[in-house]
Amino acid sequence: MLILKNISKQYEGSKTIVLNNINLKFENHGLICILGPSGCGKSTLLNLIGGLDYPTEGDILVDDAILGSLNKKDLDYYHNKYVGFIYQNYNLINYLNVVDNIELINKNKRIDELLDYLHIKDKKHQKVNNLSGGEKQRVAIARCLSNDPSVLLCDEPTGALDIKTSNEIMELLKNISKKKLVIVVTHNEELALQYADRIIRLEDGCVISDSKKIIKNVINKYNYSKVKVSRRKIFNIIKKNIISKYKRNILSVAAFSVGLISLSLVLGISSGFNKALEKEEKDSLSKYPIYISKTSTNLDNSLEEIFDFKKETDDNYIYAKSETHENEITEEYINELNSIKENTNYIVKAYLINNALINVVNKKIDDLNIIAGSNLSKENELLLVVNNNRINTEILKSINLKKEKYSYDELVGYEFKLKKKTYKIVGIASTSEDSYLYDLTGLLSISDYFDKEIPSAFFLYPKDYENKQIILKHLDKYKDIEYTDYSTTIKKLSTTIVDAVSMVLLCFSMIALLVSTIMIGIISYISVLERIKEIGLFKSLGLSNRYIKYIFVGENIALGYISSLVSYSVIKLLSIPINNLLQNLTGMSNILLIDSNLLFIILIVSISLNIIGSYFPIRKTKKLKIIDCMKYE
Ligand code: ADP
Repeated sequence: MLILKNISKQYEGSKTIVLNNINLKFENHGLICILGPSGCGKSTLLNLIGGLDYPTEGDILVDDAILGSLNKKDLDYYHNKYVGFIYQNYNLINYLNVVDNIELINKNKRIDELLDYLHIKDKKHQKVNNLSGGEKQRVAIARCLSNDPSVLLCDEPTGALDIKTSNEIMELLKNISKKKLVIVVTHNEELALQYADRIIRLEDGCVISDSKKIIKNVINKYNYSKVKVSRRKIFNIIKKNIISKYKRNILSVAAFSVGLISLSLVLGISSGFNKALEKEEKDSLSKYPIYISKTSTNLDNSLEEIFDFKKETDDNYIYAKSETHENEITEEYINELNSIKENTNYIVKAYLINNALINVVNKKIDDLNIIAGSNLSKENELLLVVNNNRINTEILKSINLKKEKYSYDELVGYEFKLKKKTYKIVGIASTSEDSYLYDLTGLLSISDYFDKEIPSAFFLYPKDYENKQIILKHLDKYKDIEYTDYSTTIKKLSTTIVDAVSMVLLCFSMIALLVSTIMIGIISYISVLERIKEIGLFKSLGLSNRYIKYIFVGENIALGYISSLVSYSVIKLLSIPINNLLQNLTGMSNILLIDSNLLFIILIVSISLNIIGSYFPIRKTKKLKIIDCMKYE
């Protein structure tokens, strides 16, 4: 039972009264034709009955409810279960086949029966854009009947069809109207006269004639509830839309992948670069010596130390603080050092004999560059190690050489006595500024003559990073003996450089991110615009905004997922030539690091950006009115 009570309609911002005080009652079945010239308000009336728009005045009573007072959820239910729309242009979803169009929201157990009834059983799995006009309208009617609505609202259902097909469709509607109320808006007088049970004529928004008044009053009761749609249904719509628009989707995946690839390049290179540098650092820096001397100066005036010192202070007292520390080097300590000989390349012990400092190395040093004379071979032989042809005056003075300048010949072969033993300089060796042997300048010997004495300092040159850790473990056992690890001082400097490089790379990746997000935003916006009619159709079938959101977000998540996999594969392939190139440029291998961590990051970034990118377009769909969607071209 459908009653229109004093219905008037005036569109916002328009002075024209489109519908003027309409009073109509409809039975629960029968074929009603609304006839009238174009612009007289027929479609407007149909939209009001369908709950797509609201009257300016009056009420529409649907059995036991007033249409205008239904909430959003109940209105969805009304669209889904009470009314069904048939349009002139069918409004089918082209990327879905016949069955999927019919079962767009709800699954139908009697689909075959329905297809049979509408004579389209053999088209079941066909794409709808290959169908004829009449077949398309049959699919639209099937979609409508699939929800088993009480009322069918048909807006010019035969407007785009030839006479023969028009008759077939009207025949079908006539048949349906035996059990349901079918309201057909048309300007085709002949068809109306042939098929209608009742003809209502409209002119300038008024009913000018009504062939048959209603007598019976049957009131049905409706249990309004939520329209539920299965996850599979939503998933199917997403999947089919992605597949059907594969060309465009390939383009958008490619476009987004460019952003993702640049991001992964930045992330991969920065993490790989850090790792490569760390390895390089470990290997090279670990070769710098660990220095232990009788008096250690606190070179590293660290914050911690200052902090500790402050903690101890209190007002009115002055605390004495020593910058140097006396290390008591015991025999036990020396034995400990000897025990880690295997972990070192060299152990150099420095002895102070009558003011002369002699470095004694435990084996011949190969890296030294002999520039005059010969290398060490005997106990009492010494090498004079210089740096860029320079040497500290004090060292020369301590062995009685007091001139400012000496030729190689004057020095090679020079003999001197220390504690009754004669020494001879047999050669001159050089180190360069960046050599880690820099600290070895002076007199170098391989004699074990001094072994009975306690050296004044030690230089331990670890073999590599792992061995260095072992050495440090041994040294740390002696809490009272301080040592200086040269590499840590140098390392502090180099990490600053790495941090700076990483910051620059990070900025690049931020730009890549921004570009990608904008790109996704534009792509989803276009997608929404393209599908406004479809959104209107979904809404007119009672699909709530929530489900429409799922469809769009789901699509973007899927595209984000595909994009990240594509990007990952591309970058994985590219990493081979890129790493080769970077190795040629920097000498470091595997700078572009592609691992599962990166894949995870790309996935997260890609999917979340896709969700963010689709946020505004989805908000747009929420605001769209069904009636505006349907008019959208
Ligand atoms: P019919 O279906 O009989 O051809 P309509 O119901 O579509 O006529 O339109 C009736 C009148 O209302 C027309 O003059 C049309 O221009 C006007 N109209 C329809 N929709 C709107 C709207 N959204 N805003 C303003 N005017 C409208």
